[in-house]
Amino acid sequence: MAAGSEVTSDGLPPLRDVVARHGLEPKRSLGQNFLFDLNLTARIARTAGPLAGVTVVEVGPGPGGLTRALLAQGAERVVAIEQDSRCLAALAEVAAHYPGRLEVIEGDALTVDPSAYAVPGRPLRIVANLPYNVGTALLTGWLETEPWPPWFDRMVLMFQREVAERIVATPAQRVDYGRLGVLCGWRTKARIQFDVPASAFTPPPKITSSIVELVPRPDPLPCRAGALSAVTQAAFGQRRKMLRQSLKALPGLQPADLQPMLDAAAVDGTRRAEELTIADFVAMASWWDERRINARP
Ligand code: SAM
Repeated sequence: MAAGSEVTSDGLPPLRDVVARHGLEPKRSLGQNFLFDLNLTARIARTAGPLAGVTVVEVGPGPGGLTRALLAQGAERVVAIEQDSRCLAALAEVAAHYPGRLEVIEGDALTVDPSAYAVPGRPLRIVANLPYNVGTALLTGWLETEPWPPWFDRMVLMFQREVAERIVATPAQRVDYGRLGVLCGWRTKARIQFDVPASAFTPPPKITSSIVELVPRPDPLPCRAGALSAVTQAAFGQRRKMLRQSLKALPGLQPADLQPMLDAAAVDGTRRAEELTIADFVAMASWWDERRINARP
């Protein structure tokens, strides 16, 4: 570091300087809204803690604000997946400051398998200020992990407030309740921890964000994730329609199977998806999955 340059509490330069020095002009196409406030990134890291002995998978470290907080908070190892090669030099400085504890993977998180970094018997946690454009796809992929319980023991993730509300929604919040709420509620205990105002980001997005914590349930109702995903996709795909109509969109469903599937869950076909509990969806999905397996030649 150049003599006389400013350092922060973790001994590294302020993030604003890092971004300027490495020419990290935020790119909208990569969902780049950076956090520069180290008090805020420390708060997010604390929400994921305690981190001693924990491997953290972080998606989208960018210039390294949250990465630094996770390491300062004591994470044993951080595996950070970043698509923007412009950020690698800045992240290399963080890695040098915390020898042997930060591994940066250059790539698209949608195609990298983070379970490869899990060490048997050691906790692995996913912590990220997710890029808005792929956040929901990444979460859905992690929730559909088989077998369950998964390779991570907790997720602490930043989403737009509107997505966070859909994640924690139950049938009582009809407007927000949908496929995401069913998948999250089925396999995890999800709750919003705190909001982050738009002004905390550079550049500021148009909306408020929220930190969501998702803790895997050890024994969710038994069902194959892919089946539940398909049934909820069909049911909520036309959420204003009655189930006896919307469920016709379920791939491969024979017309004669519709009523038995509803009966298996004791669900009236005139109801709408937003009125059903998670257990109702699981019952329908399990019946449909078994029917397809039995129908195979
Ligand atoms: N963690 C940093 C922070 O909190 O300031 C940056 C968060 S920014 C919202 C999202 C980051 O994800 C950016 O660094 C962006 O380059 C990266 N990103 C976007 N799409 C990605 C993808 N498919 N795979 C991996 N990283 C991605």
